[in-house]
Amino acid sequence: MANCGAPQPVHNGDSVKQVRKKILAGEVPSACRICDRGELAYRQHFDKFASWEEIESATSQDGATSMAPVSYDHRFTNLCNLECKMCGPVASTKWVSKINKLSDNHLAFKESVNAEQAMLKSLYKDTTLTELSQAVEQNRVREIYWCGGEPLMWPEHWKILNQLVASGES
Ligand code: SF4
Repeated sequence: MANCGAPQPVHNGDSVKQVRKKILAGEVPSACRICDRGELAYRQHFDKFASWEEIESATSQDGATSMAPVSYDHRFTNLCNLECKMCGPVASTKWVSKINKLSDNHLAFKESVNAEQAMLKSLYKDTTLTELSQAVEQNRVREIYWCGGEPLMWPEHWKILNQLVASGES
C-alpha cells in the first residue's frame, strides 16, 4: 500500500478491516492460520512495501486504511489455448468449450459453468482491469503477479504493459 490515491473499496471492506485490526494487535486471524506456522508467512513478502509504523499511522480505529494498493495479484482472464488435466473452466476457456460439448445429460453442470463464466467476465472487465489501469495511471504499482488463463494471449495484458512503459514505470 502507499499513501496516494483513493483506496479501493475492497481494502476497506468490513472483513478486511477486522483482519487489519487483528494483525496490528499482534493476533493471527483464524483465516490466516493455514499460512502462519511460525515460518515465513506469505504476508511477510509484503512488508517491503511499507513499514509497520506507516501502516499503523494510516489505519484508523475501525481498521480502515488511507493507503492505496501497490501490489496486484490479478487474474484477468481465463482465455487459454490449453486444457491441462489438472485445470478447469475457471482458468481455461478450452475447458469451457470441452464442457459445452458434453451431452445434455450434463445440462445442469454446463449451465452452472456458463453462469460462472458470465460472472467472471463481468468481474474482469468492470473491476479488475479498471482497478489496475487506474493504479498505473497514478504511478503507484510496485508489483504485479499475472496469472490466467494464459495472460500473454489477452490483448488487455499488452495494454497494461504499454501503459506501464509509457508511464516510465516499466
Ligand atoms: S491455464 Fe494454465 S494450467 Fe490451465 S489449461 Fe491453461 S496452461 Fe494449462
